[in-house]
Amino acid sequence: MAGLDTVTDVSGPINPNNNTRNIVISINKSISLQECIHKRKAINMIAVLGGGISGLAAAHYLKTLGSSSRILLLEASSRLGGWINSVEQDGAVYELGPRTLRAAGNAGANTLALAESLGLREKIISINYSHASTQNRMILVDGKLHKLPNSLKTVFTKCSPFSKPLAMSAVNDLFAKKVVNNDESLFSFASRRFGLEIAKYAIDPLTRGVFAGNACELSVTSLARRLHEVEQQYGSVLVGLLKDRKNAEKPDPLLRKCELVIQARKEKWAVWSLSGGLETFVKVLQEKLVQDGIELKTSTPVKGIKKSSSKLVVQTDEEEIEVNKVVSCLPSRNLSSVIRATSPELSQLLDTIPYATVGVVNLEYKGQVLDEPAFGYLVPSSQPNKVLGVIFDTCTFPQGDRTILTVMMGGYWFKSLFGDTPSSEELLEVATREVKETLKITMKPVHYKVNILRDCIPQYVVGHSETQHNLRKLIQHMKIPLCLAGNSYDGVGVNDAIMSAKRAVL
Ligand SMILES: Cc1cc2nc3c(=O)[nH]c(=O)nc-3n(C[C@H](O)[C@H](O)[C@H](O)COP(=O)(O)OP(=O)(O)OC[C@H]3O[C@@H](n4cnc5c(N)ncnc54)[C@H](O)[C@@H]3O)c2cc1C
Repeated sequence: MAGLDTVTDVSGPINPNNNTRNIVISINKSISLQECIHKRKAINMIAVLGGGISGLAAAHYLKTLGSSSRILLLEASSRLGGWINSVEQDGAVYELGPRTLRAAGNAGANTLALAESLGLREKIISINYSHASTQNRMILVDGKLHKLPNSLKTVFTKCSPFSKPLAMSAVNDLFAKKVVNNDESLFSFASRRFGLEIAKYAIDPLTRGVFAGNACELSVTSLARRLHEVEQQYGSVLVGLLKDRKNAEKPDPLLRKCELVIQARKEKWAVWSLSGGLETFVKVLQEKLVQDGIELKTSTPVKGIKKSSSKLVVQTDEEEIEVNKVVSCLPSRNLSSVIRATSPELSQLLDTIPYATVGVVNLEYKGQVLDEPAFGYLVPSSQPNKVLGVIFDTCTFPQGDRTILTVMMGGYWFKSLFGDTPSSEELLEVATREVKETLKITMKPVHYKVNILRDCIPQYVVGHSETQHNLRKLIQHMKIPLCLAGNSYDGVGVNDAIMSAKRAVL
């Protein structure tokens, strides 16, 4: 690939549509014609890398928060949306990736405000905290489904597989000794503070369900920072939460004024989605970006980023584009290879964030085949089971007279359970066996989809907070106009990804 230093003439006519110079340049004779690539010397341009939800949100916020720069978004695949992927078939919608967004917290409110600004209000479907899907969450232990305690009454009652009422864990926390540390695993923290059973039957399956990860390796300071902080300060999580209320997250006053946020609070929304699936969000956001004159380029993998005095040059197969700033919304492992030639140190640090692969099998059955409505169930890692959990999609958001379940498998354990390239048949067989054995569904699914989502969830392992701090410090030290957003750094959910994009461009 020809580098910018080989350029002898970078002038060219300004493209009136996008205020950039599209230049076919003359290059040093020593370079073969094949190496000739198009070079753009943009006037005040910002490049957003990655067209997942964080890239789309970053481009949107750049525009709406007043940037006067030209904005170019580059996406490697042929579609936008990243892991958000809602597939329609015969009137049914299958979510291959995320399916629900939480309404709570400032990140939740921020996504609602974005949805409102995009005119999505009419398309929202939501459920509140009294819905069966919010109330009934189960875990599978010794081949039996157990409902997790969900009310004050059940907190004071012994519910199997726990050997004591959950309230006893609070007592445990009051008397457990504080251990001074900067970070530790979620499992170790929960087990120290609340007892082994809470770690084993609540935190471990939850970690598998949300992060497809191993609670013994994931970081408490990254994933439950506040609980760790109050323990360090007050010696007990519960006492700390009570005494330290002033430091709890305060609702953002600007977001509080948003009508959709007010409605969600009033109606006590727990989670929401959109008709047509979460990809509706992507499609509407994409339309808005086009209307706003943002240049969206799909099927354009970024191959490298080079320094060019105070600017950066983004390299693709066809172009080298000089830009004032790069907002990277690439997964850290992808950014690592893109930045390697410019900064091996940054690349190495990015490589320390591991990823988990998840096998996702969507199963559709005719009619209502579940005995009881629920969110679904999770499987603790102590169980001899390849499945992380089963989500009862149509209990949360019904789709006529059909039942859709999603079986997730592998995660942190994918390779050891399935090897490198399991067949679709193998994953389908694991999924159908699981629902047959646990849910007693013996009929064949009328439709199914099997997908392996490779390296789809970043794992915030112990030390992650320090890693992401060091990454940003290193970028600052390098004095390059690069900022990081996306789910690799400050939260793995869609709300976090959108919030990270907003913060990166503010
Ligand atoms: C199975 C699953 C279930 C989930 N469920 C939920 C849920 O219910 N609720 C929730 O809130 N979150 C959920 N999540 C998490 C959520 O999907 C992510 O937080 C979010 O989609 C991340 O968006 P992103 O834009 O940061 O990253 P991505 O979606 O990974 O997007 C990154 C983009 O960068 C592109 N790219 C990569 N390399 C290059 C390159 N060199 N050049 C150009 N482009 C490149 C990729 O093609 C991709 O489009 C789930 C995730 C998975 C995998």
